Amino acid sequence: MARIARVVPEVSLDRAFDYEIPKALTAQVTLGAKVRVPFRSRELVGYVVDFPNEPFEGKLKPITEVLGSGSFLPASLIELAQWIAQYYCAPLTVALMSVLPKAVRKADAAFKQRLWVEPLTAVLNEEVAVVLKKAKAQRAAWDYIQQNGPGWLAELSQASGLSAATWKGLAERNLVSIASRTQDRDPFLHSPVVESVAHEMNAEQITALAMVREEIAAEKPRVVLLHGVTGSGKTEVYLQAIDHILSLGKSALVLVPEIALTPQTVERFRARFIGRKVGVAVLHSHLSSGERHDQWQHIRSGHARIVIGARSAVFAPLENLGIIVVDEEHEHSYKQEEAPHYHARDVAVMRGHLARVAVVLGSATPSLESYHHAKEGKYRLAEVLARVEEGQMPTTHILDIRTAAKKGSPPVLVAPRLIEAIQLRLDRQEQSIIFLNRRGYSSSLQCPQCGHVEMCPNCSVALTFHRQAAKLRCHLCDHSASVPHACPQCGFAPYKYTGSGTEKVEQALVEAFPKARIARMDSDNMKGKDAYAKTLGEFAEGRIDLLVGTQMIAKGLHFPRVTCVGIINADLALQIPDFRASERVFQLLMQVSGRSGRGQLPGEVFVQTRVPFHPAIQFARHHDYTGFAEQELEFRQSLHYPPYERFILVTARGRNEEKTIFVIEQLAREMERLKLPDTEITGPSPAPIARIEDRYRFQIFLRTRRITAVTPRLRPLFMDRAWPDDIRITLDVDPVDLL
Ligand code: ADP
Ligand code: ZN
Repeated sequence: MARIARVVPEVSLDRAFDYEIPKALTAQVTLGAKVRVPFRSRELVGYVVDFPNEPFEGKLKPITEVLGSGSFLPASLIELAQWIAQYYCAPLTVALMSVLPKAVRKADAAFKQRLWVEPLTAVLNEEVAVVLKKAKAQRAAWDYIQQNGPGWLAELSQASGLSAATWKGLAERNLVSIASRTQDRDPFLHSPVVESVAHEMNAEQITALAMVREEIAAEKPRVVLLHGVTGSGKTEVYLQAIDHILSLGKSALVLVPEIALTPQTVERFRARFIGRKVGVAVLHSHLSSGERHDQWQHIRSGHARIVIGARSAVFAPLENLGIIVVDEEHEHSYKQEEAPHYHARDVAVMRGHLARVAVVLGSATPSLESYHHAKEGKYRLAEVLARVEEGQMPTTHILDIRTAAKKGSPPVLVAPRLIEAIQLRLDRQEQSIIFLNRRGYSSSLQCPQCGHVEMCPNCSVALTFHRQAAKLRCHLCDHSASVPHACPQCGFAPYKYTGSGTEKVEQALVEAFPKARIARMDSDNMKGKDAYAKTLGEFAEGRIDLLVGTQMIAKGLHFPRVTCVGIINADLALQIPDFRASERVFQLLMQVSGRSGRGQLPGEVFVQTRVPFHPAIQFARHHDYTGFAEQELEFRQSLHYPPYERFILVTARGRNEEKTIFVIEQLAREMERLKLPDTEITGPSPAPIARIEDRYRFQIFLRTRRITAVTPRLRPLFMDRAWPDDIRITLDVDPVDLL
């Protein structure tokens, strides 16, 4: 009887297929092997996920070829992909494909091979020297390599101005060797770091580390939620925990949100462990495909034992894992917005659970989900509530923007108190950060006469005015239009801009402080990662006084000379129809104010708002996370919201409104018929943003207390199902984006 391998091929189907293992390949077809298999009329790459034992009658097609060597995909990741497919109600192939980066999935994925030239001797004997007198170019090449050392053939030829043929001539005389070699595509090639040493920790840090070490040693480790205010030295706790892991001979995985935007974090890890001679790998979206392949392979081969990365790095193929750290665990960027819609923090917790590895979730403002688990005793809670070295939390002032203007004059963009505060920093040569949650010049273009607002033709949102480009732009689909001179509805001219964006605030500040050095950072003017690093570098060196920006500047930055932070429109996000709106505003205020007063100089924060007594604003003012969390949890419980109950969001999108409604109504009826336990189904109804990119959007909401009982029952309604025409259906378990 032939042995059988169960293979998941790279097609979007929810199943695996069985193949015969040819005798010649028996040794190579291991669990996780990457193989080529016949599939219908073509051949596909696939992965071996199982070896079924049932005897098989009839004839199976054989595996054609084994790609790469050994078990390509670790068994632990196959298990994790299976969990994702099940929990997030996604096809197994889709889950497996998200576990493996495209850069390593390609059939021809490989290290880059190039020709390397190296001298074979340091001295020329006389006989050869005589010969080289005539071969002048070869002599020059010889001298060149003696002086400059070995290198890549292409680069040596270019730098020396001597042709490849000349170098090959030298090789024929056995003076140099030219051989194929792997060139590592190393993202750190041009960013050396200086080794750093551990800080002596304070009492709270020591307690937190001790708790983490207890869980590292535990048979069945529990998750540790590390709640530490901004600047309390959470990263130091991670670093020392990892140091301990390395001395146990194990490896560590660190997740950070949007890594390309937090180069400082990566540098801190590299700097601390550079002396330990263990490889540090990074995985994030700004790597080239080649770099990603090489980093992944270094991790897989055990060469890199510390991995730092964004969301998808939760699937780093580390073996012998000792700890998983999820920094800023409350961040929404951990949620994958495409299928399988996984949340990297939750996957990290599951990975830790399956592998019995300690997991540390860290945040200044833990998600209510995690905090709830800690309060229920499912997680352990470690708190670091003082800033290091007696650093003080900044003083927060709430500025009621409704009363900030003088009687009878229009509302102000930047309150006089904030202007004064910035002026004081300019005088003292300190720095300020002004934060607001919206790019562009003004939020929308509204006719003061008839109230007409210019809308995006493809999406149900208003267009945003961008002054520099003199265009109206849609922030959802990137549609752009020129600015009409008069209202298209009533003919009134000129139009009036309402709301405020980064550009408008920047301009107001330039007018208020003509001599100050002001820079703006938002996704409009920071397209490349270099632009971002450059501006931050200038700010760090004190060549910029005042930084204006969006979310982009809210996170993780550490600038000791920043003593004033202004938040222009704190309450904007409170208007978003999302049950987490309040939590988001609170987190944002805490994050942004955490940028102030991180050094020896005391910091101040100014929050401009129209709702000064909103709990999110008041609790943030007092830096009272616990107070906020307790109140918000009570509210969530009374309304049956997460974390007390779970949501599943089903969305239908289509160009034809009626057809889309027809399909989602049909689906809703099928769901009702399932009579799901402890589950409430609402909808279908139009999504809060009813149209995006010319597609109508309708939603069904499921709310349940028994998520793991519900998803397996829903599964058959969604798997391998063909929807009519261009209608797209998505199912999102634990959705973060409800719009
Ligand atoms: P968090 O991650 O909680 O915001 P960090 O780990 O970034 O805080 O710490 C803030 C700063 O304090 C960093 O520059 C860090 O090197 C330093 N630091 C951390 N722990 C200590 C300590 N025990 N003593 C002195 N400085 C510390
Ligand atoms: Zn649009």
